[in-house]
Amino acid sequence: MKRILLLLLIVLLIGLGALAVSFMPAKLAVDSLPKVLVPSANPPAEMRLYAIEAGKMLSQAGFAYRGGNIAEPRVFGMGGILIKHPQGTLLFDTGFGKDVDAHFKTIPALMQATSKYEKEPTVAVQLHAAGIEPSTFKAVILTHSHWDHVSGLADLPGVPVWVNDQEMSFIKYGDDATALIRSFGKLNYRVYNFPSGPYLGFKKSYDVFDDGSVVLVPASGHTPGSIIAFITVPGGKRYALIGDLVWQNEGVEIPAEKPWISRKLVDWDESRTRDLIVQMHQLKAAMPDLVIVPAHDRRVWDTLPKLGS
Ligand SMILES: [Zn+2]
Repeated sequence: MKRILLLLLIVLLIGLGALAVSFMPAKLAVDSLPKVLVPSANPPAEMRLYAIEAGKMLSQAGFAYRGGNIAEPRVFGMGGILIKHPQGTLLFDTGFGKDVDAHFKTIPALMQATSKYEKEPTVAVQLHAAGIEPSTFKAVILTHSHWDHVSGLADLPGVPVWVNDQEMSFIKYGDDATALIRSFGKLNYRVYNFPSGPYLGFKKSYDVFDDGSVVLVPASGHTPGSIIAFITVPGGKRYALIGDLVWQNEGVEIPAEKPWISRKLVDWDESRTRDLIVQMHQLKAAMPDLVIVPAHDRRVWDTLPKLGS
């Protein structure tokens, strides 16, 4: 009996040791910089980008990227990025909706047990306050279909929801993290492709307005149909909405992936996610003015233009 207990203790200690190591710093290997040709963009003068912050999760830096301090509190922001363009208004992701309490209960139990969230005025409420009518939107475009990106969809009835075919299958047949969007039933889905050719090192793209101002590229990894959206606003400033490729900016900066426990909870394909993190790290090195916008880094969102500002 004593022997079995001793053996169990050893196994437990090895396990705890391995878990501790999985949070340690581990910089991803970066090859020499590929040549980057910055594509032209002609955003119309009236085009605008606004960040609409709508909800928070309270977590720690250590859960976002390897080497992050496990004791350092971090706000993981939720929300949507609004693009006003003369050819139509787009909303990337939706943040927490008014029914977030119920939505939270649809996520995996371990995530519920380890997460705390706070509400902020929803995207729908903030749009209403700004006199913007969502029913006129060209599309809500999902960086991916996880619950915290779609909760606010329930407050935007009828708006076309754009997903690519890989993400559509993930919505239909995916895991618990897409249970919420499945529960919404028949949304006004529009499935898009990437007909517009190579873009910034990605093999294919979709130039939504045909002027280079909003270009979607496939970024399969965090989920099968995750995308990155490259936005260029008047004046030439460029943004990359990278969804949950990393949770906090250090992921791309270092570059470092999420720690093991976070990857197991949320990333569909760890290896593809890792490759894309390195690719975005290299792109940022080649284009230092490119603003990398992780969907949940509230520090970055706080620097973006806001509705009413
Ligand atoms: Zn996600």
